[in-house]
Amino acid sequence: MPELPEVETMRRGILGVVGSRVADVERVACKRRPILVAPRMDSFRRRTNGRRIADVGRIGKRVVIHLDSSDAIVMEPRMTGLVLVTDPPTTEHLRFRCTLKGNGIGELLYWDRRGLGSVRLFSAVELQDAFGPEKVGPDALKVTGDVLRHRLSGSRRAVKVALLDQRAVAGIGNMYASEIVHLAGVHPAKACHRITRAQWDAIAEAMHEILEAAVRYEGSTLRNGTYRNALNQPGGYQSRHRVYDRAGKACARCRTPIDHIVQAQRSTYFCPKCQWQ
Ligand SMILES: [Zn+2]
Repeated sequence: MPELPEVETMRRGILGVVGSRVADVERVACKRRPILVAPRMDSFRRRTNGRRIADVGRIGKRVVIHLDSSDAIVMEPRMTGLVLVTDPPTTEHLRFRCTLKGNGIGELLYWDRRGLGSVRLFSAVELQDAFGPEKVGPDALKVTGDVLRHRLSGSRRAVKVALLDQRAVAGIGNMYASEIVHLAGVHPAKACHRITRAQWDAIAEAMHEILEAAVRYEGSTLRNGTYRNALNQPGGYQSRHRVYDRAGKACARCRTPIDHIVQAQRSTYFCPKCQWQ
């Protein structure tokens, strides 16, 4: 499922739409489970058509297309969504089309195999209500060790589980959480309230290093995964994973076999030697 690096790659991949005008928006006829599109298309169209795209941002694991009206289109890929400016992987799962004019890119598409994602139009006030600081934590690319410690050190949750809480820190999912605590040398089951100040700093530093590298490689496309960048190309970071989906294989740092546990119904991978504390 797309996490911060994959969604950031989508965002960067569609930056060429900035300056274009929305010619039309369309909910594509699709026989699959319908995705959430809001508001209704007549209202959506009335508020977007003719508007200029002022910027493309990101809130956690969502792409945010800011219009010059101060409305914003939020595309949330959830499990299998893609934001594309080229032909999609399949036509049958194409969900939403935004036709553009004025800047060379003819259309912006939202594709979603499982259909759990959404395309929603928000006013500036609604955007703040839905994704303001009380709902979505600081971005994982920017958060400091001190901020992580302030937000999480009162919790008895396992650190790897807590890092998935989008209200605490935004952008990390199950795959990169294992990678981050491995690089930080912290056991994934260690309770947040027992983590030292130095370890919070190490976790923040590892978070930036892992996520920045994954953005450079345009994210991870897993064997059974659907993630593609905005040009429908796979990412390149999957071959650089330290622990994720590598149970039984040697830790790149110490050669100990990688271990696998389940935490909060999600798979966690870690090195029992590098992450003993
Ligand atoms: Zn190791």
